[in-house]
Amino acid sequence: MFCHSCGSLLRPKDKAGKRILVCSCGFSKSLDDEKNAELRETTAPAKKIEVIEQVEIHPKIKITCEKCNNKVAYYWTQQTRGADEPETRFFKCTACSYTWREYA
Ligand SMILES: [Zn+2]
Ligand SMILES: [Zn+2]
Repeated sequence: MFCHSCGSLLRPKDKAGKRILVCSCGFSKSLDDEKNAELRETTAPAKKIEVIEQVEIHPKIKITCEKCNNKVAYYWTQQTRGADEPETRFFKCTACSYTWREYA
């Protein structure tokens, strides 16, 4: 554990029955506070990034969007239920983002 203000190694110390970390520069902090701060950082959600990266990596095909009559849509397939079920084809209009599916 290092000092947040000068970067030196903090030394543990007992102060009024509480465990604290002290530095030669005068900086001190409670060990309980540090534990809580670390918890908050590790539980921060990181899932949103994955979703953003998945967007628009699908190939485009020529198909007419029934909402806006655009002629190009992203295309992908997905196994919806059991492995014995046929794949479902998904289309997403490149113009209006309307998404629809078609059973194979
Ligand atoms: Zn310090
Ligand atoms: Zn459209």
